[in-house]
Amino acid sequence: MNYQYWNEQFEKMPRRDLEAWQLEKLRETAGFALRTPFYKERLAGTGIGEPGDIKTLEDLKRIPFTTKEDLRRGFPYGFLSISRDEVIRLHASSGTTGAPTTIYFSREDLARWTGFVARCIYSTGCNKTDVFQNMITYGLFTGGLGFHAGGEAVGMLVIPSGPGNTTRQFRLMQDFGTTVVHATPSFLLHVEARMREEGINRDRIRLKRAFAGAEPYSEDTRRRIEELLRIDVYNSYGLSEMNGPGVAFECQAKNGLHIWEDGYIAEIINPDTLEPVKDGETGELVLTILCREATPILRYRTRDLSAFYTGPCPCGRTHRRLRRITGRTDDMLIINGVNVFPSQIEEAIMAIKEAGNNYLIVVEKEGVLDKLTVKTEVGPDIFMDDARPLNALRERIRKTIQASITVNPRVELHEPGSLPVSEGKALRVQDKRPKDL
Ligand code: ADP
Ligand code: ZN
Repeated sequence: MNYQYWNEQFEKMPRRDLEAWQLEKLRETAGFALRTPFYKERLAGTGIGEPGDIKTLEDLKRIPFTTKEDLRRGFPYGFLSISRDEVIRLHASSGTTGAPTTIYFSREDLARWTGFVARCIYSTGCNKTDVFQNMITYGLFTGGLGFHAGGEAVGMLVIPSGPGNTTRQFRLMQDFGTTVVHATPSFLLHVEARMREEGINRDRIRLKRAFAGAEPYSEDTRRRIEELLRIDVYNSYGLSEMNGPGVAFECQAKNGLHIWEDGYIAEIINPDTLEPVKDGETGELVLTILCREATPILRYRTRDLSAFYTGPCPCGRTHRRLRRITGRTDDMLIINGVNVFPSQIEEAIMAIKEAGNNYLIVVEKEGVLDKLTVKTEVGPDIFMDDARPLNALRERIRKTIQASITVNPRVELHEPGSLPVSEGKALRVQDKRPKDL
C-alpha cells in the first residue's frame, strides 16, 4: 500500500515527541480554560491555578471531568475564553440527547480544525483530482462545513450537496464525475437501495470512496456498503465539543481509527468507577482538546464507547487507534432487565445478506413485560408475496438477534424503502414505554 501523509512530521512523530507536544499544548489550553468563568471555578482547589502548575501529562488527572450537562449550564458564553470579537464562527451539537451545546472558533481554530480534516481525507488516498460530494447536513452541524473546508484544503472539487434528494444526488454524481462522498452510513445504505430502484447504472458513476460517520455502524454494515456500491468506506469520528469531524479517522489499513494525539488527549475510563480501563478493554472515551483557543474543553466525557488498539499500525502513523465506536453509554436499552445495545441488533441484521438496508427497533410495554419488535426491510431479491422463504428469513433474523442479545424479539419484515429514512443521524430506536416519573 502506498500511504500518503498530509503532515508526515506530525503523523509519524515519535511517541516521546508527541507527548512533549501534548504537554506544551495542554498548558496552553489550561491557560485559556482558566480565563473562562466555568473552569476558573472548576479548577479552584485542584492546585492548578496557572498553566505552569501542569508539570507532566499525569497532572491532567487532577482536572475534574467536564460533562455535557456542564456545557449546557455554561450556555451561551460560559466556556468562551477569548474576546467575543476574535470569534469568527460558532457551531452546535445535533442535540441527539437533549439541548444542544455551542462551540466557538477563532480564525486560527478554524485553520487548525481544517488541517485535521484534510489530514483524514488525504490519508485515504484522495488528492486534487478528486470530486467530493458532501452529502451531509450543513448549517450548525459540524459535519457539513468541517468536511467542506477539509476537502477544499486538499484541493478537491467540493460539491456542497447536503443530504436528501437521492435523484438529485445521482444527477450530480453523473454530471460532475463524483469520486468520493461523505454521508452517514444509514444514508449510504439508502442511496444504494435507491440507486437500484431508479435503475442507475453503477458503471456510469465514478465513485471510489466514502467517508461515513456521525453515527455508530458495524463492520458488517461497512462491508455491505463497500460490496454493494463497490467503493472503499472509511470510518470518520468526531463530535462538536471537540470541533466536529477530524478527531479520529481510519487509515487505509482500516483497523481502528487513529485519534490525532497532537490535537487531542484521549483517555478511556470505566463509566462507573471513573478509573482508566486497560488497553483493549471497552470504556467511555474522555477527550481533551489541544487545538482550540476559543472554547477549551478539558477531560470531556463523550459517553461514546470504545477501546484502544496500541499495537503499531502498518501505515506508520504513531497515533493510537480507537476501536470503532459501538454506541453511547446512554443508548443502552434495558429490556426485561437485560442490557441491550442497538448496535448488537444492527450487527445481527447486517450479517444476514437477505435482510435489507434499513431497520427500526421498537420497545413497548405489554402488561408488565417489555416487548421488543425489530422491523427490518428485506433485500431486493426477496419477494414479499412468497410466504415460505419469507417465514424462513424472519425466523433466521429472529434467531440471530436472540443469540446476540438473549432477548427474544418479534421480527417484522417490510418492503424495501418502506421504513423511514432520516436526513441527519438515523433514528433507529422507538422506546414507547411510559417514562417513570
Ligand atoms: P450530538 O451529541 O448532539 O449527536 P454531534 O452532532 O456533535 O452531537 O455528534 C457527535 C456524536 O455522534 C458522537 O459523540 C458520537 O456519539 C456520534 N458519532 C460521530 N461519529 C461517529 C462514528 N464514526 N461512529 C459512531 N458514532 C459516531
Ligand atoms: Zn494506520
